[in-house]
Amino acid sequence: MVTVCCTDLLQVQSSYIGRFAPSPSGPLHAGSAVAALASYLDAKAHHGGWRVRMEDLDIPRNVPGADRVILQQLKALGMQWDGEVLYQSRRLHRYQQAFDTLLSLNLVYPCGCTRREIADSVLRTQGHFPDGERPYPGTCRSGLPKGRQALSWRLRVAQGQVVFNDRWLGPMTQNVSQMVGDFVLRRADGIWAYQLAVVVDDAEQGVTHVVRGEDLFSSTARQVMLGEMLGLARPEYLHVPLVTDNAGQKLSKQNGAAALDLSDPLGVLTRAWVALGFDPLPVEDVRSFWAAAIPVWVQGLSRANLHGINHRFYDPQ
Ligand code: GLU
Repeated sequence: MVTVCCTDLLQVQSSYIGRFAPSPSGPLHAGSAVAALASYLDAKAHHGGWRVRMEDLDIPRNVPGADRVILQQLKALGMQWDGEVLYQSRRLHRYQQAFDTLLSLNLVYPCGCTRREIADSVLRTQGHFPDGERPYPGTCRSGLPKGRQALSWRLRVAQGQVVFNDRWLGPMTQNVSQMVGDFVLRRADGIWAYQLAVVVDDAEQGVTHVVRGEDLFSSTARQVMLGEMLGLARPEYLHVPLVTDNAGQKLSKQNGAAALDLSDPLGVLTRAWVALGFDPLPVEDVRSFWAAAIPVWVQGLSRANLHGINHRFYDPQ
């Protein structure tokens, strides 16, 4: 085992660094509690560090004070993070630097297409695609059409397969150029895209293991490709199932999922634990929950029920 020394001189006994990266668009709900629980358990099971990052770049969606509420919720659930909480909104220069690197390699280009134009031009493209968006047809790839102004900036996606390993599902393959096409790194409103920020920040925070919800599974191949273009170390990935409501809809802040009921933190943890497919633990408080849950997680994910993962955007090898 090696000793990793974080920027704040916090000693962590392991080379493992995990993270939880909520968007402060509202308090945590039952779905985000599962992602937090899984990443925390995995970090503790590896005697690793666990960092928190506020993904607050999408300013219109930020809810003032939600970051503080999320941190209070994590504390109430007994999840103590290492080091300082990183706010993406304070790191715009880092995304610019990464972007400039890609620009110098001719890997990004300006795009003058509106959403409407793209939607019209790809209307007849058949199939299921990540995030419900049909692949960008590459209209501006070889230069902005005459009279057009740059709106967004896109990555020049490489041809061929991206292969990565999901710790639960095994090796996954995606042809990003066919499934997604050249994707946006800087939005038309000037905001850095999630895909760029997450890759830059995971590398900068030294994240070795990404454990998160299945909704981000379809983005992983894009992130792996981008990380490679930027010459960054690739983390390990594990995606856990999303919690759905009675109608089978993903719980999200957007569709009004209720904030966690912190009058009963053990109940919150137990529901998230059971949602991961484990049997309830015979424990009476938060502290004993963690003491019991970590060894069970260590015994192997084979006990968990992660079968619900939807991997139709990938070809298992
Ligand atoms: N900020 C994202 C969310 O709240 C998570 C990003 C990630 O874990 O990569 O859904």
